[in-house]
Amino acid sequence: MSAKQVHTQGQESIRLGISSCLLGQEVRFNGGHVRDDLLLTTIGQHVQWIPVCPEVEIGMGIPRENIRLVGQSDDPKLIAPKSGTDYTKTMKTWSQKRLKELDKHELHGYVFKKDSPSCGLFRTKVYKGDGPASRNGRGLFAAELVKRFPLLPVEEEGRLRDPKLRENFIGKVFAYHRFQGLISNRPKASDLVEFHSSHKFSIMAHDPKAQKSLGQLVSNSGRANIQDLISEYGALFMETLGKISTNRKHANVLQHIMGYLKKFLDSDDKLEMIEVIDQYRQELLPLIVPITLLRHHLNRHPVLEWVKQQTYLNPYPQELMLRNHV
Ligand code: SF4
Repeated sequence: MSAKQVHTQGQESIRLGISSCLLGQEVRFNGGHVRDDLLLTTIGQHVQWIPVCPEVEIGMGIPRENIRLVGQSDDPKLIAPKSGTDYTKTMKTWSQKRLKELDKHELHGYVFKKDSPSCGLFRTKVYKGDGPASRNGRGLFAAELVKRFPLLPVEEEGRLRDPKLRENFIGKVFAYHRFQGLISNRPKASDLVEFHSSHKFSIMAHDPKAQKSLGQLVSNSGRANIQDLISEYGALFMETLGKISTNRKHANVLQHIMGYLKKFLDSDDKLEMIEVIDQYRQELLPLIVPITLLRHHLNRHPVLEWVKQQTYLNPYPQELMLRNHV
């Protein structure tokens, strides 16, 4: 099956690969699908999906026999237990070809169907002998994709039901999109400095230590080879955004931003801000509340425009409403 592109309204410049069955395509072994409405109604309004069904695309047909991962979890075989057919080589060879095509789509992320021996990303069952399966494998196509695109944000649909993981994944997708925008424009050292400055608080919300390491990298940008520097920066930047942020880390960033506002706020406004941040830290309020209050104050003080422009305050379209739930 060729890659049918599904266009959705909204921000089509964000392209996410996805296991076709999650879009409602009837490609599963039994002719069914597992359309994920939550995924499609929230995220789907803002991205272009690029669906892929590895098992159909290697010619297994619909319906088809069951397959499973067998052997060593770090290098399993893809076997159909009933017929004994070994699909490992076919799947790996096809994956290389398909990933070359996907490279042309310049994806910004990928959402996989969990538990599949082809698409499962985490804790996929691997069978060994007659014993129980161990849940420590990765579907063959998912494994090849992660190897080829190590910085690409990837997730499973099941984990995206968790509001924190969902917010983290989408934040990472949009950050990757901005980073790709940077590297596609033959960046100079000064462009990297500007990119880093605008992501300062986003990075801090995931790992304050990495913020320092990335800052040091950028501060040497005048002396280093720009290509090497961008590669090193990109790897650490994406790794950092992959670390799940916590209420405590967010509260730290919010206080930091409040520090810039201090001399502009009267004592009542300050007290209100401190209380709201504290209530967020205790998980009594969602993140959107302190963020909205900060934005309100920043809007009144043009001298703080650089703070207002921080990606942390606007990481993705507000309509996604992801910060209303974390
Ligand atoms: S999980 Fe992957 S291989 Fe299985 S039906 Fe869905 S897209 Fe196809």
